Formats: sequence, structure tokens, C-alpha cells
Amino acid sequence: MERLAIDGGTPVRESKIFYGRQWIDDRDVEVVSKALRGDLITCGPFVEELQKKLCEVTEAKYSVAVCNGTAALHCAAIAAGIGEGDEVITTPLTFAASANCARYVGAMPVFADVNPKTYNIDPDSIERCITDKTRAVIAVDYTGQAVEHDRIREICDRHGLIFIVDAAHAIGTKYKGKPEGSLADMTCFSFHPVKTITSGEGGAITTNDPEYYRKLCLASQHGIVRNSADFVEEPEGPWVYEMQELGFNYRMTDFQAALLISQLEKLEKFSERRKEIVKRYNEAFAEIPQIIVQEEIPESDTTRHLYMIRLDLDKLTCTRRQFFDAMSAENVQCQVHYVPVYWFPYYQRLGFKKGLCPIAEKIYSGIMSIPLYPMLTDEDVEDVIKAVRKVVNHYAT
Ligand SMILES: *Cc1c(COP(=O)(O)O)cnc(C)c1O
Repeated sequence: MERLAIDGGTPVRESKIFYGRQWIDDRDVEVVSKALRGDLITCGPFVEELQKKLCEVTEAKYSVAVCNGTAALHCAAIAAGIGEGDEVITTPLTFAASANCARYVGAMPVFADVNPKTYNIDPDSIERCITDKTRAVIAVDYTGQAVEHDRIREICDRHGLIFIVDAAHAIGTKYKGKPEGSLADMTCFSFHPVKTITSGEGGAITTNDPEYYRKLCLASQHGIVRNSADFVEEPEGPWVYEMQELGFNYRMTDFQAALLISQLEKLEKFSERRKEIVKRYNEAFAEIPQIIVQEEIPESDTTRHLYMIRLDLDKLTCTRRQFFDAMSAENVQCQVHYVPVYWFPYYQRLGFKKGLCPIAEKIYSGIMSIPLYPMLTDEDVEDVIKAVRKVVNHYAT
């Protein structure tokens, strides 16, 4: 059923536009077909090549490709040695997996509040959350903007904590000129279709530490080693592989790796287009007093994954829900990233209470992600801006 636009007339756009989508071209399809015709469609040459390419792009010494970003986080938690009774500090403004990975290994997430301007995890709040049980910090490059690496590194070093970055949003982002992936102890990526580049499902962990690398390989491949030089016991014959730890099968297939190699070649182009769109949105929304624009730290050269407008609800007569529905009626399908993680029933059952991180909750109450992906035309971008203006004007006090 066609819903009428906010003014009872026609919507700004004729066809529906979503907040994110992948860009798969003929070259991607060709590369995947080639991989599918190879001898090995998993554990083959494309995964090897992908891992090399990921090291080049992120300037990390090691990378391990896995089946999705959540598996990447789980492996990082295992490699970090996080376990029962430990605490892991993270942000509530993230996808649940950033916190869930602590639960997978029997630890408890502790939610630090965020910076009111950048919406990224606040280093001062991290410091206040540290206890005797704290083992690691999982900071999230929310919307793609790099976290405050220098400050978080310093806090982690001072307290003997492992610094993990959930960079699911941030492939291509740089901090002080260094790519995300080479800065923290371990960095986790996701290549889900809404992210900047995709392999359908996919993920990776990067690190500069050989010991974390060894553990990441074990965690993602059944805890098995195949190279006899690494065996603990003398092998009985050439058929022997050794299971040294309890691991998982989190491998990526070769055809997914082939797709991601092809996508990586376009990262710079995608990144530039995302930056252009962000610039245009920032300019347009700076002129609308009812919209708060997310700020960035100068150290972050950001490949933005999400663009969110934040409504100043004191200057509007509507609720966020009404604004969201009105955008939808203009055929601009927004999304909200994210409901604070500890609001979910699972975390409520663990004893977390609403009100825990007031700044994150305040930000959540007004945000909405609008379309941002490289395939958007200039016309699409202007349509989105028009739709926002139209809805703002309708509800302006
Ligand atoms: C997408 C995402 C994940 C999970 O990645 P999957 O590949 O979907 O498992 C984790 N953290 C954040 C911040 C994400 O956006």
C-alpha cells in the first residue's frame, strides 16, 4: 500500500531507497566463477591471497580470514585468553556481537559511556569501568570513525589490558595516517553486505603479534595444526594432524575470499565516494538547526560506513518514530544503529538496567541512519536531503 507523504502529496522519491547496500559488478562475478571452478573451493589459494592483501591494506603483520565478523570477535576473545570471571569493557552503541563475544568465553561485558559529540567510546569512561577483573577493552569504530587510539592504548598499557578494536564499520579508515587494523593488539572486521566491502558473509582479524596470530589460527580451525614442525608429539605418519586446543570451524570459503579480493580492489574508490556523500550531507545538515551532525576527531581519516542524522527533539514537534515513518513515506528507508546493547532482554536478565550509560541513551533516542553507499547517485543524495528538509519543516516548532 502506498503511504502518503507527510504533506499528503507525493513522496520526494518514486522508488524506495535503503540505508545501505552492496555493489557487486561483473568483475566480482567473474572472479567468483573462476574460484568455483578451481580444485579447492575452501582452504585454497584465494584465502591465502586474501590474507596477504588484507595485510597490505591494513599494514598489519598477520591476518586470519573467517566466516563472519562475529566469529572474528569470538576468535579475538579466545586468543586474548579472556575467560570465566573476566570483564571486558565495550560500548553500548554497537551491534550486539561486540559484547556477545565476551559472553561466548564466559566473561561479562561492562559498558562504558560514549563521547557526546563523536558517539565513540569515551576513554575517561573506560578508565572508570576498570576493576581487578578487567581483561580487555573492545572499542568499536562506530560508523567508521577511528576510536581515540592513543588514549585507549595508554590506558590499556597502564592497566595491563588487551586492546581489541571492533572495526566492522571501519575498513579503509586511518588514524594519524595509519590504517585501522595495524594499531590495536587485534582488530576485527566484518564483510557483511551492508559494510563497506563484502564477501556475502565474512570477517577477518588482523594483528602484529605472532602469538595472537597462532592462537587465532587455532581458534578458527578446530584447534588443529597441520605442519609437523608445530606438533607437540612425534607423528605416527604423514596422515597425522594434531588438535592442540578446542577450536571452531570458522573458515571462509575460497569463493568468498575471491569476491573479497575483487572488492578490496575497489575499496579506495568506494571510500572516496562515501567521503563525498558524507561531505555533502554534512554541509546540508549544518544548515538545519533541528539536525545534529556527528563530529569527528581530527586524527581520523574516516571511511564512513553509516551516516546518521541526530534529531534535536526539543526543536521538533514529533517523536523519532514519527520522523522515521515520515522518511519512510518519502521512500527513504532509514534504520537506527543501535538500540543500546544492554537494553536487550538477554542483558536485562543478566542484571543490566536502563539508565546505565546516559549519554549513549540520549544519543540513541535521536539518531537515524540515512542512505550511505557508493552506488548512490548525486540525485539520490539530493533526494535524501530534500526528504529530511521536508520532514523537518513539517515538524519544526
Ligand atoms: C556487522 C557487525 C558485527 C558482526 O559482523 P557479522 O559479519 O555480521 O557477524 C560486529 N560488530 C559490529 C559493530 C558490526 O557492525
